[in-house]
Amino acid sequence: MSKPTLGIIGGGQLGSMLATAAKKLKIKTVVFSDDIDAPAQKFSDEFIFGKYDDLNKINEFTSKTDIITYEFENIPYETLNQINKIRPVLPKPSINRVIQHRLAEKDFINKLNIRTTQYVAITNKSELDTEQNLLPGLLKTTTLGYDGKGQHVINSFEDLNELNIDFSKGYILEKLVKLKKEISIIITRFSDKKYEVYEPIENIHEDQILKQSTIPADISDKILEQSKQWAMMLAEELKYVGTLCVEFFIDRNENLYVNEIAPRVHNSGHLTINAYNVSQFENHVRAVCNLEQITLNKISNAKMINLIGSQITIYRNKQLAPNEFFFDYLKKEIKHKRKMGHLTTLI
Ligand code: ADP
Ligand code: MG
Repeated sequence: MSKPTLGIIGGGQLGSMLATAAKKLKIKTVVFSDDIDAPAQKFSDEFIFGKYDDLNKINEFTSKTDIITYEFENIPYETLNQINKIRPVLPKPSINRVIQHRLAEKDFINKLNIRTTQYVAITNKSELDTEQNLLPGLLKTTTLGYDGKGQHVINSFEDLNELNIDFSKGYILEKLVKLKKEISIIITRFSDKKYEVYEPIENIHEDQILKQSTIPADISDKILEQSKQWAMMLAEELKYVGTLCVEFFIDRNENLYVNEIAPRVHNSGHLTINAYNVSQFENHVRAVCNLEQITLNKISNAKMINLIGSQITIYRNKQLAPNEFFFDYLKKEIKHKRKMGHLTTLI
C-alpha cells in the first residue's frame, strides 16, 4: 500500500516539527494555515494559505490529503467537523471540542475521578463575589487561551473592577495552587490500550510561558506512577489516536492535579527529538497514519530551554557543543514573548 499524504492544519513550529518527522518516514505533508508567513511551509511538501472557514480552501486541502491532523487546538470545531466529513481527522474533532473549552475539559477530567484545581464558571461579575473560597485565583477565558494569554490573577473582588472584562465571552475562575512543581506526560495512543508513554518531564514556567523542560523529573515514584496512570486513563477514555500531552501541578503537600490536556504534540516534548529513539512528532505521525508502533527507548537525559523573543539572536551565531541541538523556528519577526526557537542539551 502506498503511504498516505498527511494534512496538517496550522503552520507554526509544531507543524514544522511534524512535517520534519513525516519526511523522515517518507510521508508527504500539506500544511494549511491562515498565516501567509507560516514557518511550517519551509518544512512541508505543500502549503495552502487560507482562512479556516474558506470552503474552497478546505476542499483544495482535503483533495490533496488522505489523513488530516492539527498542530493547535483552537481550530473552530465547524472547520474540523467539515473536513472530517471528507477525510478522517485525527485526533477526532469531538475530542478537540471538549479539550479546547476549559470548563468542558475540567468537567470531563473530574468525571474520571482525576483531580483538577477547584474551579467555577463565571458568566458575570457579581458571581465572583460568592466564590471567595476560590481566591486567590486565576481568571481564565474558557477558550482560545495559550501561553497564559487571557489570564488574570484575582486576589480580591476589587481586582476585578480594575480589569475591563467582557464576561459574556465565557470565563472560569480557578483556585491558585501553591505549586511545588509542574510536570507533563507525553503519551502516544495507537489503538485500544496500545500506548507509548514518555517519562514525566519537569517544567519551569516564567510569566505563564514554558521556559525549561528537563528529564528526568525530580519527583517521587508515587507521583511518577500516578501521572502516567492518569495520562493513560485520559487517552483511553477519549479513544485518542496520536500524541497527547497532560500538564500536571504538584502542590506543596505532594498532591497531583491535572492542569490541562493538550490534544497535540507539546512544547515540553521537544526534548524527545534528541533524547529518545522516536520523538513525540514521529510517534504522532506513526499513530495517525497507522504505521508501525516502535517501543520507546530513552537515549539520554536532557534539558530544553525555550528561546523567547530576542533571546534567539545569540544562538543564531553561537558555536554549539556536540551535546547541544539548536532549533530555529524561522519566524519572520522577533516579537516580545514569542517562542522563536529552542535549545536541547543532552545531559
Ligand atoms: P495555557 O493554556 O496558557 O497554557 P495554563 O492553564 O496551562 O494555560 O496556565 C499556564 C501556567 O500558569 C501554568 O503552567 C502554571 O504555571 C500557571 N497556572 C495556571 N493555572 C494555575 C493555578 N490554578 N494555580 C497555579 N498556577 C497556575
Ligand atoms: Mg498550559
